[in-house]
Amino acid sequence: MNKPEKSNSDQYPKLLKVTEDIYQLKVRYPFGMYEMNSFLFKGDNGFTVVDTGSASAESQALWEQTIASGITVEKLVLSHAHPDHIGLARWFQEKHQVPVYISSLGYKEIQRKRNNTNPDWMRNLFLKHDGPELPVKMENPEADAFEFEPDGLFDNQEHIRIGNDTYETIWTPGHSSDHFCFYSQREQVMVTGDHVLAGLAPIIAVWSEHDVNPIKDNIASLERLKAYSSKIALPGHGDLIYNLNDRIDEMISGHQHRLQQLVASVKNAEKTSWQVCQEIYGTLDPKKFFAPLLATITRFLYLESIGEVASELKNGKIYYYRSNDI
Ligand SMILES: [Zn+2]
Repeated sequence: MNKPEKSNSDQYPKLLKVTEDIYQLKVRYPFGMYEMNSFLFKGDNGFTVVDTGSASAESQALWEQTIASGITVEKLVLSHAHPDHIGLARWFQEKHQVPVYISSLGYKEIQRKRNNTNPDWMRNLFLKHDGPELPVKMENPEADAFEFEPDGLFDNQEHIRIGNDTYETIWTPGHSSDHFCFYSQREQVMVTGDHVLAGLAPIIAVWSEHDVNPIKDNIASLERLKAYSSKIALPGHGDLIYNLNDRIDEMISGHQHRLQQLVASVKNAEKTSWQVCQEIYGTLDPKKFFAPLLATITRFLYLESIGEVASELKNGKIYYYRSNDI
């Protein structure tokens, strides 16, 4: 299917028109992914907004201008509790009296983030996997994003109103354990959040002791979406997707490719995640090792869970080896 031409809407100058009732707002901010897609669904009582962008002055200013251009926001629905998606939730509540809806799992996640009962978990994980030492106290510059109380919660496979349509809530853990996609059968629209992106692979990693096997979850969640037919998918970052199932297949083969690289690298010698990470990604800038190492650790956890590799603890460090080499 050819891409319809996206154009700035005459009626709403800040928005890009996606379909008759769906609009896109590219929310920019000066860090992380730099840009996130908010989607606005037109309804009789105003727009339902899915995801907000970060709690930065830049994102806030854009929303301020958008609202000033004549947009009424009826409510906010959040796909998952990452700061770039929920960052302005409290601002919408306080400044514009907009009610905020998130999944029960997302709410649990923001409570955990606020309480942070295991601050050394990541540091210990990196040490166990032979990685560089993280600072004892890691500040989260985006911690404010978690400081809001939702007005309503939803769970898996419920039907919620977005704009004038009914959307099914689909739990898609992997990128985050609380991730949800939203599907309208009538409109054949899938809101994919960070579960499926067009041009890049979202990071899949263990972020806390509550994440057990995110790659296993992610692959199952990708397969789950293939049962829904859609004309258009609306991702949290980057371009819109017009061939969702093809993109899902690509993402699953992307996982397989990375996993095979890891299996090959421990074929003849036992290695730590950090050793393999450096083999695959090269020597990493001290500021840039975080995501690649976390992804490598997460891939080994998955490979061990399916019996492709085994591990041994030696002097406090975990070494992986090809399990059928024994
Ligand atoms: Zn995310």
